[in-house]
Amino acid sequence: MSNKIIYPFLQLSDSNAPYRDELVEATRRVIDSGCYIGGSEVKSLEVELATLCHTPHAICVSNGLDALRLILRAYILLGKLQRGDEVIIPDMTFVATALAVVDCGLVPVPVDASPSTINIDTELIESAITERTRVIIPVHLYGRICCDETLLRLSRKYNLLIIEDAAQAIGAESLIPGLFGTKQAGSLGHAAAFSFYPTKNIGALGDAGAIVTHDEELAEIIRTLANYGYRGSYNSIYQGFNCRMDAIQAAMLRVKLPHTREENDFRRAQATEYDRLICNTEIIKPLAPQGYEHIYYQYAILVNQRDKFRQHLLKRGIETAVHYPLPIHSQPCFPELNNLNMPVADMIARNVVSLPIARTTPLSSIKHIADAINEFH
Ligand SMILES: *Cc1c(COP(=O)(O)O)cnc(C)c1O
Repeated sequence: MSNKIIYPFLQLSDSNAPYRDELVEATRRVIDSGCYIGGSEVKSLEVELATLCHTPHAICVSNGLDALRLILRAYILLGKLQRGDEVIIPDMTFVATALAVVDCGLVPVPVDASPSTINIDTELIESAITERTRVIIPVHLYGRICCDETLLRLSRKYNLLIIEDAAQAIGAESLIPGLFGTKQAGSLGHAAAFSFYPTKNIGALGDAGAIVTHDEELAEIIRTLANYGYRGSYNSIYQGFNCRMDAIQAAMLRVKLPHTREENDFRRAQATEYDRLICNTEIIKPLAPQGYEHIYYQYAILVNQRDKFRQHLLKRGIETAVHYPLPIHSQPCFPELNNLNMPVADMIARNVVSLPIARTTPLSSIKHIADAINEFH
């Protein structure tokens, strides 16, 4: 049987096709401006991003990993964190969450996932808190907000910083009953990191990331750290880095950012179709979201015999992906974590499959994909 791909998992040119003319025009603008790093494109994007996230400060940086590292470094400079302090992270996340922690000399403490939300199981967090715990990094995995009353209560009770890894959740909204109204991803904790890696719901045409925060002092230190620690020209008050955003990426993002709601709605409509049409009892669909809390960076299902399932779809021309085959505690780069017992994360990593969801997959093709899924047994 031939395996011609009819439904590719993702084609980034499709994601950018609706914006092509505007992207070309923005590229011209940057070329003619003569300003290629930072400058007015980046400054304008920072204002637009802060507005979108309902935070007073936004700092554009090189990528999502650097955004996380810069937040942690800035807290170290502020004296709120010290080397050796412990940072609670979900075990089921992209590796960058943990890499940022160890890069700053901090100790990652993975906590197992909730089988229903796939996000960190907030009920398990308290037992992982020690005298050295200073931070929780909730990750809004696959675009679902991960911030509930339990997490916020623990943060207050133990005086912990909440640093959102919002790389997959731009424009998602949280509705936590009784606490506050609707809040944007990025405005739930003390600071948040975004990524504009090209596959994300709002993707640049290269690497890019950002930090948002309510904390003016933190924002100022991050800004300084990201640019060689300069205060004034060639005067380095910190041992900084080069984590600046290119003007061309800012210009690309300024074309796409105003369409965040529309892009997310497009994926939500696809997810609603999958929810409606998949009716195979061997498949566990994602928990239905409340309101706008899930923006479906991935539509991730759970299925036993994943290889057989993916092969079944591939034979019907449908490409899938796995996010992620290894939880943090199983990554070879963290040998000190390899003996941890994380049964839910292990189960997810073994069974999770991401279905095509993005501009590459028009709404009309979801029916074909769902039919193929329903035929699997
Ligand atoms: C993409 C991503 C990152 C890293 O972003 P980059 O821009 O690739 O450095 C961090 N955390 C999560 C959860 C991500 O999905």
